[in-house]
Amino acid sequence: MIRLLEKIIQTQLKFLLLVSATLIITAGCSPPPPARLNRLQWASMGTIAAVQSGDLDTAQQLRTLALDEFAAVERELSGWSESSTLAEVNRHAGGEGAVPISQSFSEIFKLSAKVTRESGGAFNPLIAPVLRIWGFNGATPPAATPSTEVLQRALALACIDDVELTASSNTNMIRLLRSGMQLDFGAVAKGYAVDLVWRSAREQGLTDALIDLGGNLRALGEARPGREGWLTGIRDPFHDSRLVAKVLLRDGEAVATSGNYERFVEINGERCAHIIDGRTAMPVKGMAAVTVVAQDGATADALSTALFVLSVEEGKKLIQEHYPESLALWIPDVQPLRIITTAPMEARLQR
Ligand code: ADP
Ligand code: MG
Repeated sequence: MIRLLEKIIQTQLKFLLLVSATLIITAGCSPPPPARLNRLQWASMGTIAAVQSGDLDTAQQLRTLALDEFAAVERELSGWSESSTLAEVNRHAGGEGAVPISQSFSEIFKLSAKVTRESGGAFNPLIAPVLRIWGFNGATPPAATPSTEVLQRALALACIDDVELTASSNTNMIRLLRSGMQLDFGAVAKGYAVDLVWRSAREQGLTDALIDLGGNLRALGEARPGREGWLTGIRDPFHDSRLVAKVLLRDGEAVATSGNYERFVEINGERCAHIIDGRTAMPVKGMAAVTVVAQDGATADALSTALFVLSVEEGKKLIQEHYPESLALWIPDVQPLRIITTAPMEARLQR
């Protein structure tokens, strides 16, 4: 028996609001007495967006940038809107012509395809047909565990080599070669959206601020003079209001977390994430949360999802081989709480 326990967005928003209120810790032990951090937040892309800065003017300018960039990302990459470029690309799957896409679309696809190959298909932006079979992405949940045959048929549509991308400095086009194929950037779009805001902010000379989209954070400068970054909390997946550790985000670094505690299905009493193993078409079990610190938001977001699917050993290998500057932390879905880290993450953690 499968029981869908996907929470409604309102509940998530309320929850995230609570969580994000505790997420940023103002570190330190020395004077001068702290100026208040200004936090501005609003609902965006199905979650809570927020900007923070000690300087109110900076926070306000950053919010204006973020409103524009997040709206642009929704128009391009939303999996929920019929009128997004992504929806158009998916509608044309198996058709004759390629669909014109933006530079951003092309960039996010290239990163996703790279992580797909590096993770041996564990991460895969073409997994949407399988997600729908399991009742995610707005589909009706199945009454029983789907058959292997049905799952394999959907998985066969998730071949990254069946996407044709034509990318040059002035034209970007994409074509999904087979009918039924569907792209879904749910695992990376929020981190990428944060990067777009971060880049615009840099261009405009803004600094000493933090951008947050549903727990995808990226640091500009530092929280206060001398702090050398932004100290952020890593949440305990089993206790909403507790942190398991803190990590300092240095200027330009980003952090993302993938978890099984907000959206999941329960199969025979076992909690399964809204994240599917792209190699087996099965929902991932056994991991409660994975946090990744990386050099940019899209990479942190993609890697947190990829590492959620891979075994810890496979994940460590992926990081070592392709992202040696990234930090990773795993929390298996077992009690009592256990934390696994890469050595560079361990060196950076504050407990
Ligand atoms: P969240 O949406 O909670 O921030 P993630 O960044 O980990 O979490 O993204 C989860 C989303 O990624 C899912 O809702 C789905 O759209 C997509 N997804 C699920 N499984 C995979 C996978 N194996 N590869 C790529 N994307 C996936
Ligand atoms: Mg992700």
